[in-house]
Amino acid sequence: MTHTEAGPISWRDLPIRDDLRGLSPYGAPQLDVPVLLNTNENPYPPPPELIADLGTAVAAAAAGANRYPDRDAVELRKDLASYLGHGLTGSQLWAANGSNEVIQQILQCFGGAGRSALGFEPSYTMHRLISLATGTRWIAERRDADFGLDPDAAVAAIEHHRPDVVFLTSPNNPTGTAAQRELVEAIVDAAPGMVVIDEAYAEFFRPGTPSALRLLPGRPRLIVTRTMSKAFAMAGARVGYLAADPAVIDALLLVRLPYHLSVFTQAVARTALAHVDALLGTVDAVKAQRDRIVAELTAMGLHVVPSDANFVCFALARDGAERADEKAVWRALLDRGVLVRDVGLPGMLRVTAGTPEETGAFLNALKEIL
Ligand code: PMP
Repeated sequence: MTHTEAGPISWRDLPIRDDLRGLSPYGAPQLDVPVLLNTNENPYPPPPELIADLGTAVAAAAAGANRYPDRDAVELRKDLASYLGHGLTGSQLWAANGSNEVIQQILQCFGGAGRSALGFEPSYTMHRLISLATGTRWIAERRDADFGLDPDAAVAAIEHHRPDVVFLTSPNNPTGTAAQRELVEAIVDAAPGMVVIDEAYAEFFRPGTPSALRLLPGRPRLIVTRTMSKAFAMAGARVGYLAADPAVIDALLLVRLPYHLSVFTQAVARTALAHVDALLGTVDAVKAQRDRIVAELTAMGLHVVPSDANFVCFALARDGAERADEKAVWRALLDRGVLVRDVGLPGMLRVTAGTPEETGAFLNALKEIL
């Protein structure tokens, strides 16, 4: 904070854009407590073989670090295409520093001044925040009471607002709800502009839940975003990506910053992808803890939202009981060393599936509190 003769000044005193004044920065608490179950990371660190290979790959990248990296990350995009399958090629993939940056590039390209983006809330709050930061008007439509979305209602909202970009998160954050094929098809058919299916948590889908990747052929306005921050256990590396028609990627080249993905990031991502089996080997363990949370909270009489992700959203009040104060329970869990997420839904909290020990610590603490 800068001090002037009149005292300290805040960002509000600066000549900031008027449309940013009412906003608050993204701010999931980063606290040093034993059990971190608030940002949907994979609880398992990268395996030792990968850590060793990462060291070698980063050293090799360092040897050429006097030169700019491959601006188009061609090799990484090929690797991502072969990971995703579905007959995709590198020309249909794009990567950036986290899927947040991918989303920002999409909005810079297809949103912006005089344009609008529509999302179905509650959902990932950065869709709204990045829309506003790029000057895109945000249109909030509601999900159903059980956090699902009826295709007819979604189509009616899109036909009414005619947004330039539609966001649909599947599995949805913070609720864990997955979108069925008919819903995605109906939205793409109705939308006049681009449709972004945010599949950050797709690797945690329950069996039979479909990915929107299979809908890409013949739908050039559909974009599926993914990330290495969740199932891949690489949140610290900051790598997100999308799959879409090659024309979409050509359009994004207009707004991406030159050399946005460092030589180190590209090397780390490619090395991680070479260890895909070991990395994704933890997914079943995480899903088992997710299912354990659902089962145990249900047995406690709590209302739990079915989850296709690596987290669970639940109501604190037992059936028929008065609504519990989620802020008080969040605090009481923190006092017991367990950090979960207050997602702004009255009477509800969200918890990430951790290791069996972390999950057990959460469940025991919650039983004690309720
Ligand atoms: N989409 C969703 C639905 C998310 O929950 C997150 C992270 N919480 C992201 C995108 C962004 O992840 P990253 O930038 O780490 O790829």
